[in-house]
Amino acid sequence: MSDLMDLYQEVILDHNKRPRNFGKLDDCDHEAEGYNPLCGDQLTVYLKIVDDVIEDVTFEGSGCAISTASASLMTEAVKGKTLAEVEELFGGFHELLTGDPSVRAEAPAKLGKLAVFEGVREFPVRVKCATLAWHTLQAALAGDSDQVTTE
Ligand code: ZN
Repeated sequence: MSDLMDLYQEVILDHNKRPRNFGKLDDCDHEAEGYNPLCGDQLTVYLKIVDDVIEDVTFEGSGCAISTASASLMTEAVKGKTLAEVEELFGGFHELLTGDPSVRAEAPAKLGKLAVFEGVREFPVRVKCATLAWHTLQAALAGDSDQVTTE
């Protein structure tokens, strides 16, 4: 189990150091800003959606390792997915972080690399860091121009 935690940590550190899909997306058609006042994490998510599929997605901003790695892994996870699939992923991710662990034995396989955040569940303050990018993504999809906060 501790090997698994080490692996998880490695993935998070790697994505924090070299965030994927980082930067502004010039031809985006949806965007939203998110802010987590508890930690000071701030990010903007940019989307390009074609026929209900996320054709491209990027983010920029600054925050702690968890929020940056989560945004980076999220962009990888949702790119090329339909909006319905993204909704389902977010549901699974949210369940992983906030659900009752005694009900669910292991992370759903379909979450893939997103499962690295399972350990965050032990730290409720950090859950907001990990879900910030997802809430911001939802706001962008909803066309919400107000800044989203985790409060
Ligand atoms: Zn944070």
